Amino acid sequence: AAPVVAVVGRPNVGKSTLVNRLIGRRQAVVEDKPGVTRDRVAYDAQWSGRRFTVVDTGGWEPDAKDRALAIARQAEVAVNTADVILFVVDTVVGPTDVDEAAVKMLRRSKKPVILIANKCDNQAIEMEAVALWSLGLGQPFPLSALHGRGSGDLLDAILAAL
Ligand code: GDP
Ligand code: MG
Repeated sequence: AAPVVAVVGRPNVGKSTLVNRLIGRRQAVVEDKPGVTRDRVAYDAQWSGRRFTVVDTGGWEPDAKDRALAIARQAEVAVNTADVILFVVDTVVGPTDVDEAAVKMLRRSKKPVILIANKCDNQAIEMEAVALWSLGLGQPFPLSALHGRGSGDLLDAILAAL
């Protein structure tokens, strides 16, 4: 079976936009309101002649209840069944308590994690990505999932991690 890349992070950071960018088509649902992707959804992707599966998730939140809890559990299942995790953070907002809680969940999985500094739409915002070093996941990977800025380099990094 093709290796699996799971995309996780809190709601609204741009996970589904990133998934569409990685698969090269608009299949994952992007919404301005959080919590749209309920279950984990898998898509086939290909880059440099290699196939892999990209799994979109509905956003992970600590202490989630009811529907949000079910969504968070699905994200945890995605993490635990993936070969590589893309952990997406909103660079404009900066690292939050929820991001830090998610990092703890990711560490428990012992899976390789690529830290995505999303919404780096321009050079000025990209400068803010240094704040994400504090999450302890190493070098943040600057990306604009919306405009495609940095996506080729990211795909190369994903293949290198698989
Ligand atoms: P998800 O909840 O993490 O899946 O986030 P979505 O992919 O649904 O995106 C949430 C919102 O962020 C949407 O309005 C997107 O258009 C926006 N968004 C996603 N990526 C970027 C980006 O790189 N730059 C900017 N400016 N907005 C983005
Ligand atoms: Mg989504």
